[in-house]
Amino acid sequence: MRKAAAFILTAVILLSFVISADAFTIIYDGKVEDYPWAPIVLVVDGHTVETKEMPPVILNGRTLVPAREFFEELGAEVTWDNDARSVIIDYDTTEIVLTINSRTVYIGSEAATIAPSDPAPKIINDKTMIPVRFVAEAFGFKVEWINETRVVRVTSPEAEEVRLTNVAFSSEDDTDTIFIALDEFVNPNIFRMQEPDRIVIDVYGTNAIIKDGKINAEGQAVEAVRYSQHPDRFRVVADLKADADYEVFKMKNGVEISIIRTGDYDYDEEATAPVEDPTEMPSGNASFPNNDGKLIVVVDAGHGGADPGAIYPPGAKDPVAVEKDLTLDIALKLRKNLEAEGIEVVMTREDDSYPTLKERAELANKVNADLFVSVHINAMDNKDEIDGAQVYYHKNSYYGKRLASAIHNNIIANTALSDKKIQDGSSFYVLKHTKMPAILTECGFITNEGDRNYLKTEKGRQKIADAISDGILEVLDII
Ligand SMILES: [Zn+2]
Repeated sequence: MRKAAAFILTAVILLSFVISADAFTIIYDGKVEDYPWAPIVLVVDGHTVETKEMPPVILNGRTLVPAREFFEELGAEVTWDNDARSVIIDYDTTEIVLTINSRTVYIGSEAATIAPSDPAPKIINDKTMIPVRFVAEAFGFKVEWINETRVVRVTSPEAEEVRLTNVAFSSEDDTDTIFIALDEFVNPNIFRMQEPDRIVIDVYGTNAIIKDGKINAEGQAVEAVRYSQHPDRFRVVADLKADADYEVFKMKNGVEISIIRTGDYDYDEEATAPVEDPTEMPSGNASFPNNDGKLIVVVDAGHGGADPGAIYPPGAKDPVAVEKDLTLDIALKLRKNLEAEGIEVVMTREDDSYPTLKERAELANKVNADLFVSVHINAMDNKDEIDGAQVYYHKNSYYGKRLASAIHNNIIANTALSDKKIQDGSSFYVLKHTKMPAILTECGFITNEGDRNYLKTEKGRQKIADAISDGILEVLDII
């Protein structure tokens, strides 16, 4: 962990409350009840209050909030008088006394009465809970209910908006960092949303001086950061491409959210499901061959020239393994296999040159290829235990997925590389900009000793090339 010494607010518990619809049990007035509703998030003067043990609840349509956390967030001192069963709150030179199950509340020397429509203060799960509406009316607080995120937001008359001046992204090792620059720390409300997987960061009570925007993040887990001003909050969304956890760091000049990649890859479970018979597909997007009886496959050896791709050891001047050389050799072996089957092969490169990604895709489109196959080798610098083969496809291409599946199955069955599944690579340039079914295969990890040693052998590269060509032949219906 990069910042072990930093002040950590674990968001994990809050997170589990927000995303789990699990009922929890509440005990009050001698009763035990299941509380079926998703818990509520309490935001006081912009700060999301940590209410781990006992979040706000709604009883008979009224919201009760934990007295201690609520008033402490406002800077009040809260004490409990066990004999009187009262909470005593020193708030802004005024003493407030709330007594359990009593409708009489003392505010300074004045007695006020909680309306019958509101519940009296209660002990729920050993916490003193008070009706937020009454408190709001008694002290002139503003109370809002935000249904979308189940937030009860309380704003005191003293609350001042905090200036929000920037949103920045950085990535290092396995950690992506979003920094929200504020004139002072504001604890945000953070939660997960699915489909697509994303982390949502809501900051309340701010005055944003920046326009809405988007950062193409290219992080370890984060692929984009979007941010926009909503009427009641500033929202930052991190779109994820891999499983991740997050931590919130309190900073003097804002809040930092570290997003730590936990999954190796963003596995798509569905992608690994067997592919149905293409004749049953409502719209196949390929027919072979495209060019009067002649099958054309474009074979793309990843990287080349000044771009070595992944190397081992990482950063070495004189590496023992270089992706561009290994991919070229596999690609040349693949060409030989396919040509032996009467397939015309167009190479994006045959030597140590570097066609751009655009040139590679354009070449495939120009020759009207039947299939496009890009050969790469993966790397994971600080995780040399990670190994295996992945094959990427574009999600809109049925045949692309089928090709990925066929190649992947052959690699797993016939090479020493382990199974890292087929995956959605819809954002890859060469998959996005080629018109024919296209795949990109990562033939193992150069950073893994087993994979690297295998890739360095003639036999290993031949086996990989054979597996790729067998997959291609299957899809082209030649074997
Ligand atoms: Zn590569």
